[in-house]
Amino acid sequence: MRHSISILSRLLRSALIAFLATTSSAMAAERPNVLTTIAQIGEPLGRILDGCADVQTLLGPGVDPHLYRLTRTDVAKALRADAIVANGLNLEAQMQSLFGRLAPIKPVILASELLPDVKIIRPDGRSADPHIWMDPILWAEVLSMTSNRFVEIWPSCKQIIVNNQSVVIAEIKAIDLYAESRLATVPEKARVLVTAHDAFGYFGRRYGLELLSVQGISTESEAGVAHIRKLVSVIAHRNIASVFVETSTPERAVDAVIEGARALGAQVKKGKPLFSDAMGSPDSYEGSYIGMIDHNVTTIVRGLGGNAPRNGMQALLAFLPKGER
Ligand SMILES: [Zn+2]
Repeated sequence: MRHSISILSRLLRSALIAFLATTSSAMAAERPNVLTTIAQIGEPLGRILDGCADVQTLLGPGVDPHLYRLTRTDVAKALRADAIVANGLNLEAQMQSLFGRLAPIKPVILASELLPDVKIIRPDGRSADPHIWMDPILWAEVLSMTSNRFVEIWPSCKQIIVNNQSVVIAEIKAIDLYAESRLATVPEKARVLVTAHDAFGYFGRRYGLELLSVQGISTESEAGVAHIRKLVSVIAHRNIASVFVETSTPERAVDAVIEGARALGAQVKKGKPLFSDAMGSPDSYEGSYIGMIDHNVTTIVRGLGGNAPRNGMQALLAFLPKGER
């Protein structure tokens, strides 16, 4: 602990030098600058604050927020930002101490922690599941509460924020309706979602899917042998059609599970990668929050024998992982 604090102090010191070197250009910028951690916050918030503030996202495609450690450049960005928005609920485990140190100096919003506690899933009764964005309606609530904080911080932006917010929320409601109607076409006994780590708890609760995962809530824990053996036997006995990998976690544990189930005679196949904790590249449809959910819903529905258009709700999906056409 002492060791990591001294690393943080060093990072802060060197970032401060970088900050002072660039501070004149930062001051020249007219709009305030908001730094967010995950793109699930950054992309929609960027649209809601459009015309009021510039929003920057720290973590790119394929990056795992549970494990990500801040670089010197990241710390400089955090020092330079006028406000910071993170998910919270221990998702950005390695960034908490920096955010805690910045909180007295500038607004640091832990977006998912704005939700009433009763809406948060605690699988073991204690630690919170941080993957709130997997339930679009809950995420709309998180984004609304976060934007309302910005109305308090920058009251002159109120009209811009209110207008943009209604557009973004309407889109989220539309993808939720699509998800609900498509997932309803998955045969009842096939409504089991097996994924690499426990990122889909809120998704399963919203759309009525049973969930099994190779790893736990955080990617920090390794899956135990006994757990893998049990999972393999469940997949084989219940005839589960697909096991899904994720774009931000390694595939090897999922591969081992699939191999094990096949050895027991199961017909299971590897589903297309899902976006769990990271989204697609920022210039693509899958790099938007709506596109991420559309991709996941469409992929899950088709992988479990339900009925969904190949290119998703708006015929915009283009994410073609290796081996898929
Ligand atoms: Zn996760």
